[in-house]
Amino acid sequence: MAWKTLDDMDLNGKRVLVRVDINVPVENGVVTDTTRIDRIVPTVKDIVAAGGIPILLAHFGRPKGKVVPEMSLRVTLPALEAALGSSVTFIEVPNADEMKALTHGTIVLVENTRFTPMEEENNPEMAKYLATLGDIYCNDAFSAAHRAHATTEGVAHLLPSCAGRLMAEELSALEQALGSPVRPVVAVVGGAKVSTKLDLLGNLVGKVDHLVIGGGMANTFLAAQGINVGKSLCEHDLADTARAILAKAADAGCEIILPRDVVVAREFKANADNKTVVPESVPSDAMILDAGPETVAYISEVLDRAETLIWNGPLGAFEIEPFDAATNAAAKKAAELTKAGKLVSVAGGGDTVAALNKAGAAEAFTYISTAGGAFLEWMEGKVLPGVAALG
Ligand code: ADP
Ligand code: MG
Repeated sequence: MAWKTLDDMDLNGKRVLVRVDINVPVENGVVTDTTRIDRIVPTVKDIVAAGGIPILLAHFGRPKGKVVPEMSLRVTLPALEAALGSSVTFIEVPNADEMKALTHGTIVLVENTRFTPMEEENNPEMAKYLATLGDIYCNDAFSAAHRAHATTEGVAHLLPSCAGRLMAEELSALEQALGSPVRPVVAVVGGAKVSTKLDLLGNLVGKVDHLVIGGGMANTFLAAQGINVGKSLCEHDLADTARAILAKAADAGCEIILPRDVVVAREFKANADNKTVVPESVPSDAMILDAGPETVAYISEVLDRAETLIWNGPLGAFEIEPFDAATNAAAKKAAELTKAGKLVSVAGGGDTVAALNKAGAAEAFTYISTAGGAFLEWMEGKVLPGVAALG
């Protein structure tokens, strides 16, 4: 789909409402991780450089429509000013006249947009009010784009709208990975449960050439094929669903890659006594905690032939050694191929990003999405309201 970027807009002398995600972690009144703040800097600076006046809109925590002083965005001001290298004017409840009087050089941060219930209700009155505060709307919060709220969706219909730098970067990376990818495309889907990723698996089997299923969710697929997975994490009630996904994949010509060997242990803890067996030989008192080396070798082979990789979910219980081995090895392989210019690699998901960082592979990936829910909904093939509204 087509969306405008900042380059398509005449920003000179314009007040630009910018929806950002600066929902950063705070401890004792201090921002402890400025990643999200750092990532909006290009958008804000580019607007200023083009003669525009940025008015930042953002939510912070879950105040549930009430004014909760502990959830004031004021706490982010020092970090925001440090990242931007300029002062930022904080305004609790902006009004149209006040905003009209702003002069170039001013950067405004508006108080937590979720202090009123109208935000999450996507109340048209709130959207109308927001539209009186600026001339242009710019959405730079992909991570909030799966929610149709007044600042992410409603106001976009009332002003000339565009994507910010971060949003544009994220959308192009995702488009490259799944929208119109170079084939063959491999998807790696792991994690704990099939039940949380049903829509995602259903969408992927129709779109990718190879689908690696790993982690706890692979057990459900193995069990659905009559394999005894012992005490492994497994959703036995989803056996029919798993078989339906396998059938859909077969129809679509998508190769499903399940573990060919597995690492089993009797305890879910670091360095638990373990061994590698074929799935058919999992002892009934043991659980599968990782994929084995033969599986990794086959995944590497498939990646060697692939052009595009999209990854969500670790291949094993990566938090506890040595059950991070398959995830680490596959991550390193993908990183190498990407560095060599042979693979476009895109990954997202809270635990996935942690796992790829732990493997030292994240840096080399083409794109790492930190968008969480929005990334997953996009992988599910859903239209994100915040993105659709920019079209
Ligand atoms: P993401 O946050 O990237 O979407 P998930 O939350 O779906 O990923 O999955 C991550 C979790 O899956 C991790 O906590 C990991 O320990 C767990 N997991 C992976 N493989 C197994 C397994 N074989 N048994 C139990 N848990 C597993
Ligand atoms: Mg998770």
